[in-house]
Amino acid sequence: MITASGVAEVRSACDEARRAGRRVGFVPTMGFLHPGHRSLMRAARVGNDVVVASIFVNPLQFGPTEDLERYPRDLAGDSAAAEAEGVDLLFLPAVDEMYPEPPLTTVHVAGLSEVLCGASRPGHFDGVATVVAKLLSIVGPCTAYFGRKDAQQLAVVRRMVSDLHLPADVVGCPLVRERDGVAMSSRNAYLSEEDRRAAPVLFGALRAAAAAVTGGERSGGALRRLIAREVAREPRVALEYVATCRPDDLEPLDHLEGDVLVAVAARVGSARLIDNITLCIRDADVVADLGVVTDRPESEVLCAER
Ligand code: AMP
Repeated sequence: MITASGVAEVRSACDEARRAGRRVGFVPTMGFLHPGHRSLMRAARVGNDVVVASIFVNPLQFGPTEDLERYPRDLAGDSAAAEAEGVDLLFLPAVDEMYPEPPLTTVHVAGLSEVLCGASRPGHFDGVATVVAKLLSIVGPCTAYFGRKDAQQLAVVRRMVSDLHLPADVVGCPLVRERDGVAMSSRNAYLSEEDRRAAPVLFGALRAAAAAVTGGERSGGALRRLIAREVAREPRVALEYVATCRPDDLEPLDHLEGDVLVAVAARVGSARLIDNITLCIRDADVVADLGVVTDRPESEVLCAER
């Protein structure tokens, strides 16, 4: 595995790989890698000749009162994990390399960025869209892998890539969970023992919602109320929002039919956690994508969607 910190070095390595006819797969991350990140690297490894991963804690996507300074970092562990997953090129840019000057040019995906998490994190998705556009510009034509854990981020990135004709195929990969159902996240490191014990209530509520829809529930309002009631059973968890919406444009859905994203965000102690499931509803048929569970990343093969 080659480690690079410069834009020019990464750009020329990717150009050279493509000139030699090699397919480039790209996995952008903020590091503190866990099996969710590793599943993206594995999907990229299976589908490409050269795998590029980046670790960059992007200041532009953190609000002034958010956790930029204390965001967990582990460069040695991350390098070992990336190498074990077969990453060929690990891009570790400094903030000055990505933003030599405060950017006057940013990307705003209207409509998708203000709702759900965007309502309490103004500017967050502009920061995400801007850094992903910059990273895709550096890596060049590639297949880029994102987790469905961050369903709104995936919708924003897909729409940006489409609107700007960026030369990337975006692949959404399954949400990876801990054994007790908690969605894996670098931010789980912020949870105290008691908060960690309370956190599974979110997935429990989503699973109850999936069961209700399988049992015939088709009202978005009733489903959202059911989730709020389930989460309220755990006083340490404060629900910020629950949404039922279309996965691609995040349009709210009150009648549940077709593909439905059921998404939640909650405060648990000092952490803000998000989680979601996707339901595919065709008349009486319901297929629920609840994510995958693994604590053995090395032995589990995860399939990317599309
Ligand atoms: P982050 O480092 O949090 O910016 O995440 C980098 C990439 O990993 C994003 O595409 C995330 O959606 C993805 N990711 C993070 N956690 C998970 C998870 N539990 N399951 C699947 N993908 C994940």
